[in-house]
Amino acid sequence: MDIQYWDKETECLPRKDLEAHQLQALKKIVDQSFKTEFYSKRLKDAGINSGDDIKTLQCIRRIPFTTKHDLRSAFPYGMLAVPKSDVVRLHASSGTTGIPTTIYLTKKDIEAWASYMARCIYATGCTRDDVFQNMITYGLFTGGLGFHYGAEKVGMMVIPSGSGNTARQFKLMQDFETTVVHSTPSFLLHVESKMREEGVKRGSLKLKRAFAGAEPYSEDTRKRIEALLDIDVFNSYGLSEMNGPGVAFECQHKNGLHIWEDGYIAEIIDPDTLEPLPDGEKGELVITILCREASPILRYRTRDITSFYTEPCSCGRTHRRLHRITGRSDDMLIVNGVNLFPSQIEEVIMNMKEVGNNYLIVVEKEGALDRLTVKTEVNADNFMDDSRPMNALKERIARTLQVSISINPRVELHENGSLPVSEGKAVRVIDKRPKDV
Ligand code: ADP
Ligand code: ZN
Repeated sequence: MDIQYWDKETECLPRKDLEAHQLQALKKIVDQSFKTEFYSKRLKDAGINSGDDIKTLQCIRRIPFTTKHDLRSAFPYGMLAVPKSDVVRLHASSGTTGIPTTIYLTKKDIEAWASYMARCIYATGCTRDDVFQNMITYGLFTGGLGFHYGAEKVGMMVIPSGSGNTARQFKLMQDFETTVVHSTPSFLLHVESKMREEGVKRGSLKLKRAFAGAEPYSEDTRKRIEALLDIDVFNSYGLSEMNGPGVAFECQHKNGLHIWEDGYIAEIIDPDTLEPLPDGEKGELVITILCREASPILRYRTRDITSFYTEPCSCGRTHRRLHRITGRSDDMLIVNGVNLFPSQIEEVIMNMKEVGNNYLIVVEKEGALDRLTVKTEVNADNFMDDSRPMNALKERIARTLQVSISINPRVELHENGSLPVSEGKAVRVIDKRPKDV
């Protein structure tokens, strides 16, 4: 495999030099944070008076964590570290778990973000000869403009198609011979279902790759998309608090996401004790952004659950890799006392060939008990009106799920393409149980 690097020197920097860079950058971002109302108080309360108090990388542990709640409490400008006249852009999170949070970027911040994005895109083997269709929501959401600027930096021809409208997406792909797309994994599966429905032949497309992110998905879902569309799918991870996409990305080896450690300091902590975990152990990802001046955010608790790979990648990049994110700690459902992540259900059903491309999890109260229903689509080839084979399939899905999640779910089968598809992040769980007040 021919490995290409956007910035070989930085991407392959020896660990010792990378860590030396991180320490200097950490001191600098701490100083920068003192320019914000929020951090000048927060850091002083923790006994930190300037970047000079950070003597080693381990000193990062003296800095208190920042949470989404903190960002909301500092809304709108409590965490802004530059004069407002230096800000050229505002972005906001999708608001999956509540009121969206905002971040600000200077010209320099946009430039830095685009460079990290270009690094990600290039690491997958794309070049300036590619035609890139960005099938994701533009606007406040960072996935649109983040990828857009990065792809332009690489020199690809960018088609800012946005999300939705599959008929138009196919037309653009055909007319301009799109080779790469970016989307959520759920929208890619929807695109595939629509292709079959509308009779779009794979041979009429020049697609080679897709970048898929913004929501959790399993390795089986990746394999499914790759097989159905005959492309390579690369996992893309980011969050608006840390710029958006461009934080961690898979290289050509598609085996874990390199987190760019010259721009981000990543830690994995135990979400209950808040203590750092040794490399390789699964916990909550905490990130400090080093590559931004307008909105410095220190030790941000992402709530995302992952772990570091302990071995280096054979691509030669020295920046550590994260395992696929399995979900957020706040995605966890408790059903009759059993802890359950939606990703556990996805792992089981996306592995069954009769199951179609979309699913939905519903939890509700039935008397005193919780009732879990898994609604899945069935492949067009396997769907039939005859109830006997359908019942057998239903039972098999329920049994397989029960073995792996220790909950006996009700399973509902739906015709391919009949469950709702969202244009942004997929909504996988509907929890109808009354909330405790
Ligand atoms: P919100 O927090 O409102 O959803 P963002 O748009 O910033 O707003 O979303 C970032 C979150 O999306 C991440 O914290 C993570 O939970 C999820 N996410 C993004 N990319 C991935 C990915 N590749 N795999 C799993 N989850 C992802
Ligand atoms: Zn690699």
